[in-house]
Amino acid sequence: MTGLPNRELFREQIEQALDRCRRIDKQLALLFLDIDRFKQVNDSLGHSSGDLLLTQVADRLRRVVRSSDSIGLHLESGEDAEAEIEERSKSISRLGGDEFTILISDLEHSQDAARVARRVLHALSGAYTVGDQEVFVGGSIGIAVWPEDGIDSELLLQSADSAMYHAKARGGNTYEFFNASMNVVSARRLSVETRLRRALERNEFKLVYQPIRDAMTGRLSAAEALIRWVDADGESIGPDEFIPIAEETGLIVDIGAWVLRTACLQARDWRAAGHVPFRMSVNIAVGQWSDLGIVESVDQILFESGLSPGELELEITESSILDDNPNIIAAIAQLTDMGIGFALDDFGTGYSSLSALQRFPIERLKIDRSFVSGVDENTNDQALTSAIVALAKRLDLMVVAEGVETEAQARFLMDLGCDELQGYLFSRPLPPDDFRVFLELEAKAPKS
Ligand code: C2E
Ligand code: MG
Ligand code: MG
Repeated sequence: MTGLPNRELFREQIEQALDRCRRIDKQLALLFLDIDRFKQVNDSLGHSSGDLLLTQVADRLRRVVRSSDSIGLHLESGEDAEAEIEERSKSISRLGGDEFTILISDLEHSQDAARVARRVLHALSGAYTVGDQEVFVGGSIGIAVWPEDGIDSELLLQSADSAMYHAKARGGNTYEFFNASMNVVSARRLSVETRLRRALERNEFKLVYQPIRDAMTGRLSAAEALIRWVDADGESIGPDEFIPIAEETGLIVDIGAWVLRTACLQARDWRAAGHVPFRMSVNIAVGQWSDLGIVESVDQILFESGLSPGELELEITESSILDDNPNIIAAIAQLTDMGIGFALDDFGTGYSSLSALQRFPIERLKIDRSFVSGVDENTNDQALTSAIVALAKRLDLMVVAEGVETEAQARFLMDLGCDELQGYLFSRPLPPDDFRVFLELEAKAPKS
């Protein structure tokens, strides 16, 4: 698609380049480039747009990586332009997805690699036209230098990958040289993954429940189920760290099914104990849609728990619905027919597409905490939040504000007309026993 060598060819090239550098006693730099926020573009604009973007990225790379950066791969004929372009592209490869590599052989100083990295980042930064949309993406580059950062191609690639990961963690659009302490992070990723694979069967997950209040009456209207994980060694690992790993590894399908089932059975128990009814809100990750079994799981658990569909709500993120994946569309339609409601979580953080809001049967928008946290002091956040609430009202959607921590925030959001508020101001997420106490107090509280 991009006309660049793939992973296999890259392997051959790096071996050749290493041979040469060994022979002439020069260094070799490997730049590992990953496009920032590519997933968001791909998810929101569709895969064909994603492909178009990658093709343009490849073109820019070819243009910016000069032949002098890669003299390791001489062509005998040398001079004519075709061959020159050919030669340049040889040092660039696409490993897959949005990952590219650039090889710089005959390196004199490692700072020369940094120069190439800066040039690449600069070239990537201009606007891309994809269909009728303008998009901007940056890149994160990790640089590893042979021989000190890895004595063979495998180790060198690992080091460049770790360094890239660090560049990304610094916010992206930057480059980073490898250093030995970086392997600690990859080791962490691997260790979490290994433990995650065993967590479900070892019963290491728990759910906590965070109350969501009706802004008008102040009464409980819903609870959001949130997963917690304490592993066998007693280490507590947050969902922001392990959910993405669960997604990447596909473990999310089983974990998500467990969450859904546990939350519904818990809701049934509280109902059976005579507590006031409220909505149970469950987060559904993008990866859970790849398995159409989700419709069946929901159907099954409603039957088993005796909950009515109106008592369950699924929280999905923009990336789930903005993809034009027909499987997701079909699953959402079936669930809607069953009477299940949908809330759009973390609203405002993705590539919000207003048309998608209308195309999908969303009932509720959850304004992301990042906007809410600023509304008592930052006029920008106030403006954005007001606009989101106004938009939601026009589209007949209910609005939930997440992460409400202060009275001032609550007042501002209530004045705007937010329907529901969730945050530490009212309650942290609670383990089941504490939530039951909360429900008992709630029943005794005078109605306002
Ligand atoms: P989310 O769905 O947006 O959940 C809200 C997050 O905000 C929760 O973090 C909650 O503890 C936190 N929060 C609530 N009120 C406040 C507040 O006033 N201040 C602050 N600073 N934070 C507040 P948590 O539990 O760490 O979960 C993080 C994210 O992990 C969730 O964001 C959700 O995207 C994901 N997640 C959690 N549980 C599950 C799950 O069971 N399944 C899936 N797929 N994702 C989950
Ligand atoms: Mg949520
Ligand atoms: Mg959220």
